Amino acid sequence: MRVYNFSPGPAALPVEVLEQAGKEMVEYNNCGMSVMEMSHRSKMYMEIHETAEALLRELMGIPANYKVLFLQGGASQQFAMIPMNLNKNGKADYVLTGEWANKANKEASKILKTHVAATSEDRKFGYIPETFNFTPDADYVHITSNNTICGTRFLGAPDTGNVPLVADMSSGILSEVMDVSKYGLIYAGAQKNIGPAGVAIVIIREDLLENENAAKLPTVFQYKTHADSQSLFNTPPTYSIYTAKLCLEWLKGKGGVEGIQKVNEAKAKLFYDFLDNSALFKGLAEKKYRSLMNIPFTSGDDAKDKDFVKQAAEVGLVNLSGHRLVGGLRASMYNAMPTAGVEKLVDFMKDFEKKA
Ligand code: PMP
Repeated sequence: MRVYNFSPGPAALPVEVLEQAGKEMVEYNNCGMSVMEMSHRSKMYMEIHETAEALLRELMGIPANYKVLFLQGGASQQFAMIPMNLNKNGKADYVLTGEWANKANKEASKILKTHVAATSEDRKFGYIPETFNFTPDADYVHITSNNTICGTRFLGAPDTGNVPLVADMSSGILSEVMDVSKYGLIYAGAQKNIGPAGVAIVIIREDLLENENAAKLPTVFQYKTHADSQSLFNTPPTYSIYTAKLCLEWLKGKGGVEGIQKVNEAKAKLFYDFLDNSALFKGLAEKKYRSLMNIPFTSGDDAKDKDFVKQAAEVGLVNLSGHRLVGGLRASMYNAMPTAGVEKLVDFMKDFEKKA
């Protein structure tokens, strides 16, 4: 029996995608082999690779002067590759909105001088700062657009003037309409809203590829290497890219990002409306900045939270524990989480509350 999986990532994939991948597992498109067994330079694989890129471009409205890269090493590798590749003046601004932003900042500080342009640590990362102390000659400003652990999200892109804005969109990409042209670089690990783990996506404005400092880096760590070779400098994670392509086709069939955004808003509203009226549970993030994707909450009682996770799992609602840093509970509801899953969770919470 398939469960409703509220994991923060790797996360639930659309069942239609899993079924199609299953059908094509042994033999893809009458070619006598699985996608996993194909040369990454074969015509059959190249079609998959190019379709995945074209779909992402179409769904996100990525302008022509941006490159799309499929890389390995996850979002965490980007914490290092960004300062390595964008370093011109040796300075970058970081907005600290939670654990992942902190990690990105810490990693960058090994390569250049980072400056904290704003932080929401004073209220346990429960909000998104709205005033920033930007450095005029910084090489870039880094934000985490959706905060997976504390459940907050930026409402649009902050204005950084001529300084390129870099966003970790790992847990928010493709969940709501974003204006790519406001960013210099967007990156995301795939394992939440794009597809299975194993591939990370980088969307980079072409002018940022020209950098004398970056040209001195080891070849595999230069964005330019991957941009110039269509992400085929070495073997890319072909099966993850193939599955991402299936997910992107699925998303297109759901009305694209505009279509899924409406579903995501409705799912989140269902959950937050219940939470706001609950006598037992309360949400952790401040209302204005609440994420559509990750919702941390708690009963305020550790033992009760643990009991909740256990009882929920017994009825097929799984992975509802909060992150170990904040404790409590968390429901992650990415694009592939059906509305029926959120309805079932809310009904379960109502019952749990009555019995508590
Ligand atoms: N950034 C954010 C916002 C995340 O949620 C995560 C993973 N949960 C990461 C970065 C790290 O991603 P990866 O495991 O792909 O390195």
